[in-house]
Amino acid sequence: MKNVVLLGSTGSIGTSALHVVEDLPDRLRLVGLAAGKNVDPLIEQSLRHRPEAVCLFDETRLTAVRDALGPKTRVVGGSEGLIELATWPSADIVLIAIVGTAGLLPALAAIRAGKDIAIASKEILVMAGEIVMREARKHGVRVLAVDSEHSAIFQCLDGKAPDSVRQLWLTASGGPFRSTPKSEFPFITVERALKHPSWVMGRKITIDSATLFNKGLEMIEARWLFDIEMARVQVVVHPQSVVHSMVEYVDGSILAQLSTPDMCLPIQYALLYPERVRSERVQTHPGKLGTLTFEEPDPERFPALNLARRAGEVGGTLPAVLNASNEVAVEAFCEGRLTFEGIAETVAQVLNEHETVQQPGLEEILEADSWARRAAGKGIDSRPDSP
Ligand code: NDP
Repeated sequence: MKNVVLLGSTGSIGTSALHVVEDLPDRLRLVGLAAGKNVDPLIEQSLRHRPEAVCLFDETRLTAVRDALGPKTRVVGGSEGLIELATWPSADIVLIAIVGTAGLLPALAAIRAGKDIAIASKEILVMAGEIVMREARKHGVRVLAVDSEHSAIFQCLDGKAPDSVRQLWLTASGGPFRSTPKSEFPFITVERALKHPSWVMGRKITIDSATLFNKGLEMIEARWLFDIEMARVQVVVHPQSVVHSMVEYVDGSILAQLSTPDMCLPIQYALLYPERVRSERVQTHPGKLGTLTFEEPDPERFPALNLARRAGEVGGTLPAVLNASNEVAVEAFCEGRLTFEGIAETVAQVLNEHETVQQPGLEEILEADSWARRAAGKGIDSRPDSP
């Protein structure tokens, strides 16, 4: 039996993680649940799973949670509450599925408390991959990938040393605008960008999949998770989202992991690693998959990939700046204050303005994050197409 703390339980990954736990009641037990502000689903989940502790980030609504759950459940709030859950004594593993950067400090706290972590929130490794992986080595804990691409690579690597790898191939669905001509890009609406062809996900990651920033963030995530330089992390577009990623070895052999798209699979793999446990949820019949295709990504229509490669190659505080400016730009796009193409333009401008600090500490990373948010906000407000 593994005791799990789930941060971000009311989101898309969080809901899938609850399915996995419900599928395997003899193997997994929820001891902590945390959400941002959605009180009702958090209460409903807590009544169903009876965790030892619950955290609601938005402290203004804590009383409602306390009243509903009674004195036996510890109910906490805010950043301190997240840290308390991440270091909860009975937890074996902490699954971090909070959108954005709020998961970074809880991730480090969990590692320092000797907990394995399963990371869905890619922002954590993009911002502070070097620090997170160093701390994990120091404390002898595992950092397990939940992203389907990184889970695929992890499964294909199966413990092989980085020097046996020629390159990693991250697959990208290409998003809803894979075949949209560049002339139509100025007219892309939020509604169209939110229609992902193969995955149902939270809003931020869905927009990131449409711009391909999601793949850019994943390239940097892979660089840290698998201790491999950016030059050996490649992207190939694979619209069917069946091959979740591939490892090309030095002898020319390529290993891939295939399955019909369902986040429950990589979540279960991370939570129960190193075991493979029976589940009927994902059924992939090769004869019914049809044609699987692969194509080169188009850097003209999707500049995010080159921006991310540059940020990953330069390193230091630049990946945190890429991540933060993208977050602000996505929010502005969703609010109708920025065009679709304006997202990458904003990020490019902020990257150009940033004076990178090499080998930064956590404080310098957080400073770069705040600076980038301000710089992106200013850049968006001063655009000639700003409403
Ligand atoms: P959602 O937007 O669906 O869910 C976000 C979750 O985070 C919600 O539970 C939300 O709570 C919670 N949350 C937000 N802010 C805070 C906070 N400050 N403290 C505590 N909880 C908070 O996102 P997804 O599930 O899609 O994505 C989560 C992460 O996983 C992202 O980093 C994403 O990139 C990554 N990921 C997602 C995949 C997917 O298929 N969805 C695939 C691979 C990675 P509330 O509902 O109360 O606001």
